[in-house]
Amino acid sequence: MKNILLFISIFFAFNANSQDTIYARRMLDSLTSPNFNGRGYVNEGNKTAAYFLDNEFAKMKLSKFGSSFMQPYYKSINTFPGKMDIIFDKIKLKAGVDYLVSLSSPAIKGEFKVVILDSTNLNSQKDIDKILSKNNEDKFILIDKKGIKDTIVTKFLESFKGENKLKAKGYIYINDKLTWGASDGVSVNDFVKITITRDLFSSIKPKKITIEIEATFEDGYRLYNIVGYVKGKTNPDSFYVFTAHYDHLGRMGKDIYFPGANDNASGTSMVLDLAKYYSKPENQPEYSIAFILFTGEECGLWGSEYYSSHPLFALSKIKFLINLDMVGTGSEGITVVNASTYKQQYEKMVELNKKSNYLKAVVERGESCNSDHCPFYQKGVKSIFIYAMGGEDTEYHNIFDTSAKLPFTKYSEIFKLLLDYIKN
Ligand SMILES: [Zn+2]
Repeated sequence: MKNILLFISIFFAFNANSQDTIYARRMLDSLTSPNFNGRGYVNEGNKTAAYFLDNEFAKMKLSKFGSSFMQPYYKSINTFPGKMDIIFDKIKLKAGVDYLVSLSSPAIKGEFKVVILDSTNLNSQKDIDKILSKNNEDKFILIDKKGIKDTIVTKFLESFKGENKLKAKGYIYINDKLTWGASDGVSVNDFVKITITRDLFSSIKPKKITIEIEATFEDGYRLYNIVGYVKGKTNPDSFYVFTAHYDHLGRMGKDIYFPGANDNASGTSMVLDLAKYYSKPENQPEYSIAFILFTGEECGLWGSEYYSSHPLFALSKIKFLINLDMVGTGSEGITVVNASTYKQQYEKMVELNKKSNYLKAVVERGESCNSDHCPFYQKGVKSIFIYAMGGEDTEYHNIFDTSAKLPFTKYSEIFKLLLDYIKN
């Protein structure tokens, strides 16, 4: 009898668990699909994701604060919705593979001369004065910092951030890896900024650039945080909160998009999965649990900043907030930001992990304002941020952060550790 019961409970535990992973993977696949346009600001990618998540919450029959799961707010951002063509001499470059264009760049069309500045011609104040004295209005300045050692020159180049020091049409920088960002799209510069790979630069030293970029500044773009909860059995007025940002970088031109599988369709899928779990009557928690999916994180924590300033229930009712961002790996365990502040909670997590042998490590980290827990933390809400570690997938803010590449190495283990934590 005992053995049969044991068998049955193991069977169901296994079954429930495999179901979770299937659901989470399905969510991950959907959120990263071309339909969602990288969950950014081109082709309503962000809105498509918001409606999709709203529908998931509705299917789970989560409770609402007010009449909707959706909390709207408005922001402005630059976008590249259309043409994105760059040709070096006669070679057409591949967007996202050979180059990225900074979101602070304006629309542009034309053919321009390229001036290369590197350690052979930029070595002293005299060289700086020389380039400053030239008319660079119709030129792109390609800067190869490699090998430049002069401190005056280095300082001069560092001062370029956001400033058109050479009064040029644009600048081209070189990097080993391409990493795009959305936060510089909040305002538009009077110059184009391009980053190319060193691989490309080693195969071509361009004399001429032919470029066409369409840009639209979206003024007062409507965004939605998605918020729902499950009422607690014994302490309904006290909340655990799980958060994740569902937005990503969107499109850079009509041809490519950034899927943002690890960042942060992974955390979004886990929050959905947790919500699905707790929404089942048999899993009703003792405390209430709120699930908040933010947007606008990539632009500068917009969603969490807005929500924590316009909370749908008093922030003082939050017992503990756990933010999940980039949880798709885990071979090296997880890191807990704010662990040093909330030692007791962190140690509980370490203890539970040890007991069930889920993860290789639960690493302590101090404060870091690097994800959506931060605006809450700054307002006095006890909050931590968990991310997974492991070299099995290192794609970040590029077009290769895809669902197919994301292994979900320790997805179930992280999920179970969170359930254990809430239970204890
Ligand atoms: Zn990100």
